[in-house]
Amino acid sequence: MSDKRDYYEILGVARDASQEEIKKAYRKLAVKFHPDKNPGDKEAEDKFKELGEAYEALSDVDKRAAYDRYGHAAFGGGGGFGGGGFGGGGGFHDPMDLFSQVFGSAFGGGFEEFFGGGGGRRQKGSKQRGSDLRYDLEISLEEAARGVEKELEIERFNGCDTCHSTGSKGSGGTRPCTTCGGRGVVARQAGIFIQQSTCPECRGAGEVVSDPCGSCKGEGRVQRDSRIKIRIPAGVDTGTRLRSSGNGDAGVRGGAGGDLYVFLHVKDHDVFERDGSDLFCEVPLPFSTAALGGELRIPTLDGQSSIKIPAGTQGGTVFRLRDKGMPALSGGRRGDLHVKAQVEVPTRLSSEQQDKLRAFSESIGEQNSPMQESFFQKARRFFDL
Ligand code: ZN
Repeated sequence: MSDKRDYYEILGVARDASQEEIKKAYRKLAVKFHPDKNPGDKEAEDKFKELGEAYEALSDVDKRAAYDRYGHAAFGGGGGFGGGGFGGGGGFHDPMDLFSQVFGSAFGGGFEEFFGGGGGRRQKGSKQRGSDLRYDLEISLEEAARGVEKELEIERFNGCDTCHSTGSKGSGGTRPCTTCGGRGVVARQAGIFIQQSTCPECRGAGEVVSDPCGSCKGEGRVQRDSRIKIRIPAGVDTGTRLRSSGNGDAGVRGGAGGDLYVFLHVKDHDVFERDGSDLFCEVPLPFSTAALGGELRIPTLDGQSSIKIPAGTQGGTVFRLRDKGMPALSGGRRGDLHVKAQVEVPTRLSSEQQDKLRAFSESIGEQNSPMQESFFQKARRFFDL
């Protein structure tokens, strides 16, 4: 814990820096320490991760407030932003695209603390911020590879149209709550202690609407189905989280909207298996092509392709196609496609084909089978040779 550097120090900004200054500082440093610019430089990579973590915390008003109050402890016990830190899960920011922030799977630990917008979030004043919302979205591997725009249907609080989110029917506005005297909390004597709790009348706001709007009962927001478009960048994986700023619940009486967090799940694919940015598949290879060489048709994410099979290819040989895997979320090099050739033995041979194969077998003997040769070398003592 104690060896973690101060986030403001990392970004080289003052503690009262504006969000704009933080963003600027981050961009400048992220470009400087980006892994693409410093290949193989461990120190630059660490700096870049540290930077992403600092920016993650300070670019979000709520997380920044939590950090200002509690320091690194705000983000969960020891691990800070998750034991693995940034990078492993593909959670780098793209400094050029700060609009849609990608958290990757790196944002462990304290992240959930900010969810739900429960009691802790309630602030005094009538313009309470809306809650953050979570949406679980399943996408296909193809969509993860290319990026996709999705329209989500979400039931959430939206601003009230009747009163333009003011919560008032007329121009009466709000008046201090008489139950709590505008303090938002009520005190009650309990033995020798004084117990404080949220005011039941104004629910902590400290003020009430004089003449509440009929549609929203003075809240300035109503619950209904909304359609929200989000852009999913290419290269996401299961566990990637996207934040759509301000698309959570609308705030009370025009208060700031919460954020919408989209948790991605990439469906299993019929043909490809994925490991990070690499893809793997198995393709049947006719044994005559394996022996004679030729072309083999293979599937790729961009459609059909073919590879050259050298004569004498053994079953299980893996062909690696560079840059035919998944794109990297951080904008780095694409992954590779690994094609494993499964030599296929023909079934249902006609008697003519069987005869030819027997003749072939007799002509070749055991002289021209490299794997058998080395196998019998090793296993000599078992065969009494
Ligand atoms: Zn209303």
